[in-house]
Parts: sequence; structure tokens; C-alpha cells
Amino acid sequence: MAWSEDDMTWMRRAIALARDGEAHEGTNPVGCVIVRDGEVIGEGCNEVGLRHDATAHAEIVSMRRAGEALRCEELRGAVLYTTLQPCGMCTMASIWAKIGRIVFGAGRGDVHPMYFEDRHLDTVDFIRDAFRGDLSLEGGLMVRECAALYVAPDAAVPEGEQVNR
Ligand SMILES: [Zn+2]
Repeated sequence: MAWSEDDMTWMRRAIALARDGEAHEGTNPVGCVIVRDGEVIGEGCNEVGLRHDATAHAEIVSMRRAGEALRCEELRGAVLYTTLQPCGMCTMASIWAKIGRIVFGAGRGDVHPMYFEDRHLDTVDFIRDAFRGDLSLEGGLMVRECAALYVAPDAAVPEGEQVNR
């Protein structure tokens, strides 16, 4: 995959947001930037602990901010950059928000399985099966930098500490 300079710029920004999320209480190291026509329309990190809201993933936080800023719930033509492959919830929300392209850094195989909700169902399947034919999903942008934000695929994480249990 040949990534554009713009893709790299926006993913760098998403990584910075993720690091910010890692550094603060109540937020987590997933960063997201939503861009349209060369401008950021919404961005954020995972704020689940901060908001006591299980849906406050970085992508949802960013979509809400974009919708509020634009006073429009449809984000057609927008590109969503996220440091980690979006979960099912965020992928579905992207479909409903009419986002045009999703670009992620680390994928399912690059991090510990505890970051995902389902053993087999994959974001890629949701997109492939969507009624919308105008949404694309690409992964692996700056994968090494992104994967470094998360627990490694083969790390021994006690079951009680696995976030999806
Ligand atoms: Zn999510």
C-alpha cells in the first residue's frame, strides 16, 4: 500500500492523540482524526473512563465532535484515521455516519486479542457486507508506531486484566 503524505500527516496526529490518551487518567491510547477537504472536523482519544461511557471510543468521540461542529450527522466524503482497527461498534457507527474511508494503523493481528469483542467477526466483514458500496477500509498505516501503543499479540495478560472479558 502506497500511502500519501496526507495519510501520514493525519496518522501522526492520531498517534499524538493516542499518546495523550495514554498520559491521562480515564483516557486510553487510541487516537482518531476525522478529516474532510484537508481539514480536521473531529478528533479525540478513547474517553471511556473519563466519561464513564462504554461507547466513548476515540472514533465515536471524534464523530460526535464532527457532527456537533458541522451541525450535521452525515460525514460524507470524510476520512477517519485511527491508530487501532475500529471495533464493531465504531465500524457500524462509521457506516451510519456515511464516512467515506477508514484508515487504521495496527490491525487485529498486530495487537493482543483483548482489544476486540469477537473471536471471528472482523471489521473487514462488516464493511464487505454493508449495503453501502462507497466506503473503503485500509489498514497498516504506520503499523509499527501504532502497534507500539498496545499490548503485543502474544503477551501473557491474566484473564482478569483482559479488557474484553
Ligand atoms: Zn470502537
